[in-house]
Amino acid sequence: MEGKYDPRTVESKWQAEWQAQGLDKTPTGDRPAFYALSMFPYPSGELHMGHVRNYTITDVIARFKRMNGYRVLHPMGWDAFGLPAENAAIDRQVHPADWTYQNIAQMRSQLKQLGLSYDWEREVTTCSPDYYRWTQWLFLEFFKAGLAYQKEATVNWDPVDQTVLANEQVDSEGRSWRSGAKVEKRKLKQWFLKITDYAERLLQDLELLTHWPDRVKTMQANWIGKSIGAELTFAIKNHREQITVFTTRPDTIYGVSYVVLAPEHPLVLEITTPDQKQAIEQFIQKVSAESEMERTAEDKPKQGVPTGAVAIHPFTLEEIPIWIADYVLLEYGTGAVMGVPAHDVRDFAFAKQYNLPIKTVILPSLEASQELDSAYTDKGIMVNSAEFDGLDSLTAKQRIIELAETKGVGKARVQYRLRDWLISRQRYWGCPIPVIHCPDCGIVPVPEADLPVELPREVSLTGRGASPLTQLESFVKVKCPNCGAEARRETDTMDTFIDSSWYYLRFTDAKNEQLPFSKEKVNDWCPVDQYVGGVEHAILHLLYSRFFTKVLCDRGLLSFQEPFTALLTQGMVQGLTYFNPNKSGKDKWIPSKLIQNLNDPRDPKTGEPLQVIYATMSKSKGNGVSPQEVIAKYGADTVRMFILFKAPPEKDLEWDTADVEGQFRFLHRIWRLVSEFAQIQETDNSLDKNLRRAIHTAIKEVTEDLTENFQFNTAISELMKLANALQDCPNKTSSTYREGIEALLIMLAPLAPHLSEELWSMLGHTNSIHTQQWLEYDSSALVVDEITLVVQINGKVRDNLLVPANLSKEELEEYAKTAPQVQKYLAGKEVKKVVVVPNKLVNLVV
Ligand SMILES: [Zn+2]
Repeated sequence: MEGKYDPRTVESKWQAEWQAQGLDKTPTGDRPAFYALSMFPYPSGELHMGHVRNYTITDVIARFKRMNGYRVLHPMGWDAFGLPAENAAIDRQVHPADWTYQNIAQMRSQLKQLGLSYDWEREVTTCSPDYYRWTQWLFLEFFKAGLAYQKEATVNWDPVDQTVLANEQVDSEGRSWRSGAKVEKRKLKQWFLKITDYAERLLQDLELLTHWPDRVKTMQANWIGKSIGAELTFAIKNHREQITVFTTRPDTIYGVSYVVLAPEHPLVLEITTPDQKQAIEQFIQKVSAESEMERTAEDKPKQGVPTGAVAIHPFTLEEIPIWIADYVLLEYGTGAVMGVPAHDVRDFAFAKQYNLPIKTVILPSLEASQELDSAYTDKGIMVNSAEFDGLDSLTAKQRIIELAETKGVGKARVQYRLRDWLISRQRYWGCPIPVIHCPDCGIVPVPEADLPVELPREVSLTGRGASPLTQLESFVKVKCPNCGAEARRETDTMDTFIDSSWYYLRFTDAKNEQLPFSKEKVNDWCPVDQYVGGVEHAILHLLYSRFFTKVLCDRGLLSFQEPFTALLTQGMVQGLTYFNPNKSGKDKWIPSKLIQNLNDPRDPKTGEPLQVIYATMSKSKGNGVSPQEVIAKYGADTVRMFILFKAPPEKDLEWDTADVEGQFRFLHRIWRLVSEFAQIQETDNSLDKNLRRAIHTAIKEVTEDLTENFQFNTAISELMKLANALQDCPNKTSSTYREGIEALLIMLAPLAPHLSEELWSMLGHTNSIHTQQWLEYDSSALVVDEITLVVQINGKVRDNLLVPANLSKEELEEYAKTAPQVQKYLAGKEVKKVVVVPNKLVNLVV
């Protein structure tokens, strides 16, 4: 009857069936809620293996939870604003909207092939006015709370993309993450969100995230960068002004031998002495062309110039020189630092370079030498520090802060590395910031009734000059909603990280036209129970989402503090990668499709032999495997099974065609097992104890693997063992055999949804396998009731006997002595001694 397993026929049949039945829609009812979410993609137009892995993992979790009685929210959407659409549009002369929606259509159809159990009715697209209307509404919530503000700021200017970049979009070499251009500095009025107001809560609440990887929490804590220290003030000789520095090491105050200001510090020009004026101005000019990353790079020599002015040490009243240096930034702390060369690596290098005094004030022990070869940055015993000499530096730190407070020259202070979030972009393809600039009223929010501020479709995109929106008079010219005066609409759009900071909330109530989401629905589904995505989002996306959630909670829009209860960061997908070791840069990677003979890979241009490694799949390395092609050849179920089997989800996965075929063969084997049984379909009532033990062991193990830590690979191994047990079973008509076949299919269902559904229906079931209850194991079936007894004579193994479990020592001895093999050896001999290890062994000494 049922012929060969053809994944194409099976999968297209069930995709159509589920769509018609709406089987993947979110079920309702009183059952507990479970929210499973993959990080939504940017619609680049092509699904890659990294996506497939991410979504498969989440889908298995969603399906498993559904079968365990949860109502599951498992949605999908599109992070659809952003630079690539605008750049692609400029290159190809298509509108960013058209380009984006074409890509979405393409990727949606690719996703549908994978058998992912999404509720497509909740699909959200961030570039759609019915979504960004609410992004704007939420922006105004921040604005009303005083958490969105505009200020002049030195920004990173990308001369190629002609846009401002956030600090995190500039790499360590001072280049744009997208265009690779050398980033310049410009001053512009910019919109910020005041995330710094939430720094302490974002840090403290990491403790609540017990189901997040420690690595991610550490990265977030480092990004927030809390340091506890003191602010100290230095008077300037012959000036009224003072210099305030922040230091985490007030215990080193007696080691200060100079003070450094950032070149942009407002005091610099005022205090510089006439003979230093020219040198200082030239230095400022030079530094202003450098990016923050360049200025603070660890391996770069520090540069500075003395101002000629002199500061007064707040405790010793000594005179110490004031310098400016590139490594001090105005935006960080107070824009001024005290130079303590003996106890700070950077200051040590600076002092050596400019021959400034190095004063040791902390030693590891009193016997240690005060002559240092490098900075001593650890804690220790105070020396050369007046009344603090001999104290341990931790105690001294506290007392020095107290002394500074008494003298009125300082106070304790906490500082964060985190800065406010620069959200405005001078770009077209983003969510317009909904404010109006009135000459009389200032900044006026767009009234709620006028939202969304829609992106005008007719714009000229050249990729050059200012934002296209500034050139559209119909967009810019507007009446002030307050006073009716001629006013100007804001033309900046928002950073796309804003769109993705709240999409998981919208999924809970995706069609709401009155609000971004109802409080009831958002509180019902959220926080997200299991979030799955790449570790590359470990800092920004997750931090911004946490910030949004806290603000919206404070505004009374929802009632939880953290958006994602559990986080799984899946590993990368790596492909076989060929490179020419004699070449460097991008040229060294040779796409496998250009190589004639993969058994003897050579550079197609030079004939040089190539080397092979595994590396993360990427376009530039030409080492990608197209999900489309693999699905066409083996079907989606095989791809899913391979991805789940090849590596634990958090580890990197090496693509291996032989292993893909291994999974394909395994699914074939299940097909044969079940379709052969479907032909018999007859069962008697006999029980098969051994098979039953194999079945319930599999249920126990697979359930644990899918519940704890998502060890899909070992779950599949257990299914393979069960398939073997079924195959080896001599009696395929017992009721236990039917139990085994059905258990195998039910446990396979979350992993290989199409095949399991097809075989389920082949067994005559009319309901879907995906609506079945997950299985519970019968612990009594796990009991081993026969054991293998090893019989030794004088320590040599002479026989293995199958005997009932848990026999007494006497009974075991009796079995051993009467076994025919053993009797041969015992003939004519007297047993002098018997050693019995219960359930294991009997040794007869003769
Ligand atoms: Zn006005």
